[in-house]
Amino acid sequence: MTSNPASSKHLYKTVALVLVVLEAFAAVVAPQFPDPGHPGMSRDEQIQLGFQTAAQVYKQMPVLPDNSPETQYIRKLGTKLVSTIPSQNSWPFEFHVIPQKEINAFALPGGPMFVNIGTITAASNEAELAGVMAHEMSHVYMQHSAKQAGKAQTTSMLAGLAGLVLGATTKGTLGSLAQYGIQFGAQGLMLKYSRDDEAQADAVGAIILYKAGYNPKSMADFFQKLAAEGSSGPQFLSDHPNPGNRQEAIQAEIAQWPPKKYSTNATAFNTARQHAVGVRAYSGQEIEQGAKSGQWAQLNQQKGATFRPPTGVPVSATSSTPPTPAGKPVSIDSVLPSAQLVTSDLGPLKIARPNNWQVIPPAQNGQDLRIAPPAGISGDSVGYGVVINGVKPPNGQSMNVDQLTSELVRSMSSGGDLSPIGQAQPITVAGVQGRSLAMQSTSPFPDAKGQPQKERDWLVTVPRSDGSFVYLVFVAPQAEFERFRPSYENMLRTLQFRD
Ligand code: ZN
Repeated sequence: MTSNPASSKHLYKTVALVLVVLEAFAAVVAPQFPDPGHPGMSRDEQIQLGFQTAAQVYKQMPVLPDNSPETQYIRKLGTKLVSTIPSQNSWPFEFHVIPQKEINAFALPGGPMFVNIGTITAASNEAELAGVMAHEMSHVYMQHSAKQAGKAQTTSMLAGLAGLVLGATTKGTLGSLAQYGIQFGAQGLMLKYSRDDEAQADAVGAIILYKAGYNPKSMADFFQKLAAEGSSGPQFLSDHPNPGNRQEAIQAEIAQWPPKKYSTNATAFNTARQHAVGVRAYSGQEIEQGAKSGQWAQLNQQKGATFRPPTGVPVSATSSTPPTPAGKPVSIDSVLPSAQLVTSDLGPLKIARPNNWQVIPPAQNGQDLRIAPPAGISGDSVGYGVVINGVKPPNGQSMNVDQLTSELVRSMSSGGDLSPIGQAQPITVAGVQGRSLAMQSTSPFPDAKGQPQKERDWLVTVPRSDGSFVYLVFVAPQAEFERFRPSYENMLRTLQFRD
């Protein structure tokens, strides 16, 4: 093909002209924060959910104390980033460091952010670390969790069930976190974001970085580095999936912003990083193990890492779960069931109970009914006794007893340290075939030496003819469970439904 020199010269001129105009125009266009939108969940609700979850993190994971060099450093850096956000759309951001080896970070609705120490040591410079934090901060700014919660509630088949189970397990409010898609796992809190959310968090994160004086490209560089690291990739990338062409998108976004001399703050970063390398850090697996025994709550307390919500943020003390053994050791005589049984009429069902145990009706509709010795309850938690409740699959959906049992276990164990032991087995209750499943968790009561102890939670689910289910959880510390089992089996034998 022969070219026409005249026309290509003409074209070249036009392009050059356009470029000049754009540059002149770009020179006055500084980036602006987008409108964060209006999710159904209110600002106060988001703050409360986030800070309540943060209080739980302090019970389920090791956290460095406020005066550690890493925490001090991260707070300084975080404050610098927050100062770029217009106050009317800002949140009570705060920054904590988890001594975990894996590269990850998460920010909760309303502002609490946790950065793994592995992220500090993996970053090559402050701008990369700032990139991760700015990205997390942007999820909070855009209220992605709150927007997701709205979606999850309408689309999840099991949302209704989760709602019923909410506050209805021996483990209190953990169900509510699962409802918002927030779950604890081996890698810490798992907040799943969509690719659209990711693209937005990258775009807003770039604005924060730019305004704080960091090269926004460093955020994409760090993500790229993580992706190149291993076939499975760190948890951070599965929580924050690449929306596609991450680097190109950020390059395109920042291309028209006025040029700026970017800062590195190399000395402060290198000092913090060097110190971080020497801090005892744990693997995700070790952290998950330790959460079961209550190890982290204790360690954090010893090291002076205590969670204090900012002034004006209400975080109720009873919401923090799993319970740390706050109570005194219980004398077994004060809780052992009497062999004398009396029948209790509980409305839809009748069941016999030891005559020295009491029926404690639910405080609110949907909450548990408990049958327990008064000394067997600590705060909100049953350490010795039986928890009874009913659940119904939402909106005319039907479930068989196996589906219901596994869904119930999923809901009860999400976010907590409750876990099943083995498989559910058939059991006949009131002439109906139900399921029996042993589970374990941490007792709200310490053992005789004041140490945290394991709890056995025996779950029995029974289908009803109307499609609903009744479930019972028989609870005692693992070491003492066999002394309670005969009474529990007797109770189960006496269960009768009204209809
Ligand atoms: Zn993300």
